[in-house]
Amino acid sequence: MELLWLLLPVAAFSGWMAARRSGNRHEARRDERAPIYFRGLNFLLNEQPDKAIDVFVEMLEVDSETVETHLALGNLFRRRGEVDRAIRIHQNLIARPTLSREQRGLALLELGQDYMRAGLHDRAESLFKELGDLNIHQQPALENLLLIYQKEREWQKCLDVVRQLEALSRRSYAMERAHYYCELAQQARGRHDMKQAELLLRKAQGSDPACVRASLMQADLAAARGGCKSAIAAYRKVAGQDPAFIGEMLPALIVCHQQEGTQRELLDYLQGLSRKHQGVIAPVLALVDQLGEQQGRERAREYLGDYLGKHPDLRGVARLIELDLQRSAASDQEPLRLLGNIVAKLLAAGPAYLCGNCGFTAKSLHWQCPGCMSWSTIKPITGLVEEPR
Ligand SMILES: [Zn+2]
Repeated sequence: MELLWLLLPVAAFSGWMAARRSGNRHEARRDERAPIYFRGLNFLLNEQPDKAIDVFVEMLEVDSETVETHLALGNLFRRRGEVDRAIRIHQNLIARPTLSREQRGLALLELGQDYMRAGLHDRAESLFKELGDLNIHQQPALENLLLIYQKEREWQKCLDVVRQLEALSRRSYAMERAHYYCELAQQARGRHDMKQAELLLRKAQGSDPACVRASLMQADLAAARGGCKSAIAAYRKVAGQDPAFIGEMLPALIVCHQQEGTQRELLDYLQGLSRKHQGVIAPVLALVDQLGEQQGRERAREYLGDYLGKHPDLRGVARLIELDLQRSAASDQEPLRLLGNIVAKLLAAGPAYLCGNCGFTAKSLHWQCPGCMSWSTIKPITGLVEEPR
């Protein structure tokens, strides 16, 4: 904001001075413009910033020396959310026939971003496509096109754009591509086209073998089609891909084992998981349930007490209180209930998911962060409740 107040009158004044220096050609204009400049200053001094801005912007002459100033001003207005002004400045710039190809390209890129900010996706899209056709600023134009197609959920177009981006830059879009395939698979599943969904999920895994989402979706699909054995294999894959997501697949995995009648196998698997991924509470809580069902409550209580001694965890404490409530006499239950309520409130107040890129927190899982628009950066918070970075 302060920068704008500094930049705008100075830019307007320097344009006026330049015109004055350049002699007769601008003599008449200069005389006309001097009062306009002071009118602008007057608005500024009388705390009428909106009117002052319009006067100064009107005063700015577009020539090869002030193009940068126009671009900077337009950018500043867009960042401040004054998209109409940004659009006016950039449109005014583009209308000038004297711009170089590079300058025109930059102005088109800025105008496209103004349109995006204003939600005019169609207009932005055609500008970014035009830049691609003109072969200038292709990479930023494609990156913006990708943002538009993601917002519009045009996943096939996203796939086309990342192919072009990979050819232009050294960056790999394998992880993003996997998510686009997952989105398409979800649409196919919505149409009950299971074969197509399966094919797309295989493509997702081919693009990014570490894609947790593809494994989860593949497992859900197999489970829905009655293939519990292959669903169990796919759910188990998640733990190897990213232990933070174990809690996401466990409820469905447990149902599959129950349907197959393989609870003993499940118990062994959960014991292995808890040993391997110390500090992740989800397999521990599932194991406590299974121990309670298969070997009795005392064994479950003993195991959880030992575990929490080594790895303190709020969700673990909540379960410990539940177990103690079940085995305590009615007269002893009041303090435990109070403690349980406090822990439940602490858990409900905290977020369950955190973006490792921007610190966005959420109660439910997003594969694309609504804060920074990155894919696969939001993860379940494991262990102690973390503070967002
Ligand atoms: Zn984020």
